[in-house]
Amino acid sequence: MNQYAAIRSSSETAPIADFRSDTVTRPSADMRQAMAEAEVGDDVYGDDPTVRALEEKAADLLGKPAGMFVASGTQSNLAALLAHCGRGEEYIGGVGYHIAKYEAGGAAVLGGISPRHLTPQANGALNPDDVRDAINPDDSHFAISRLVCMENTFNGQVVDQAQIEEVATIAHDHELSVHLDGARLMNAVVASNRSAAELVEHMDTVSLCLSKGLGAPVGSVLCGPTDFIIRAKRARKMLGGGLRQSGVLAACGLYALENNVRRLADDHARAKQLAERLSQLDGVEIDLASVETNMIWLKIPAERTVPLSAHMRELGLVVSEPSGRDRVMRLVCHLDIDDSHVDSVANAFADWLASS
Ligand SMILES: *Cc1c(COP(=O)(O)O)cnc(C)c1O
Repeated sequence: MNQYAAIRSSSETAPIADFRSDTVTRPSADMRQAMAEAEVGDDVYGDDPTVRALEEKAADLLGKPAGMFVASGTQSNLAALLAHCGRGEEYIGGVGYHIAKYEAGGAAVLGGISPRHLTPQANGALNPDDVRDAINPDDSHFAISRLVCMENTFNGQVVDQAQIEEVATIAHDHELSVHLDGARLMNAVVASNRSAAELVEHMDTVSLCLSKGLGAPVGSVLCGPTDFIIRAKRARKMLGGGLRQSGVLAACGLYALENNVRRLADDHARAKQLAERLSQLDGVEIDLASVETNMIWLKIPAERTVPLSAHMRELGLVVSEPSGRDRVMRLVCHLDIDDSHVDSVANAFADWLASS
């Protein structure tokens, strides 16, 4: 089933629980109320007080001088790459990182920026020696190394902080900048019990998604030094992302940062509980230690993966198709998943695997 077929069929039966991603959450009544009441102005003129409040709040949270509200995490990462790198310059990232795999190659297409993707460790960290080797010497054969990008959380795992810091130090020693794709940084914050500012202290710039586990319908904030944010605003404009009365949208992000961070612990607890229940079923393979935040990766026997998602949908449960050569399935807990949904999906897996 392709993604468009999935969209069509989802309107046929109203699902009771959707485990595909934490992007599927819908704004709550209180969040919608905050949107309705938002004070707004023309943000391209810098006149929107709600956008400014969100940008300040995010920058403070991350311990950075300035922030910029953008429509999406993809736009945030691309504006960051365009602000850090020029044509013929290179960024170093990781195979499987969002920036490498899921952003339509935007940095190369729109920025003439050369990607260099290293294979990260299973926990998502770049290997410090690989990064050191990948930084090009000043030689006309090579693209100019300009930036290292990391991602935290990676596949739902909290990336080892010492490794992040070691890579950042290597980058800075070679006069490269460091960008963190922190789409789900707040999950790492809650899981590690450390502050966001502490986790990103060694990052020059950070992108934070408001529309994943935090539950806003749209939006990300890119944070970093003031001169960087000025360049990123030009990039955002070029990308068609200069928005006008965007305080209506920033209001949900503000609401999310004020109300939906601590509760991520509930998603993490449910993911762990679900993973433990599934791991007890015959035929299910899960690395329980990798379930550190809200995501579960599991394998079931290949012949049992079809037509699993169609069967689940009949029960009102939406799950992703297994993907890749390994046929791995991802389940994600979020704001709209409660204990009864966890129960239902665990029971559905148990019945499905027992009924061969
Ligand atoms: C979702 C995600 C993004 C992109 O966010 P969108 O708002 O969907 O464009 C970037 N990085 C990571 C790690 C993500 O999970």
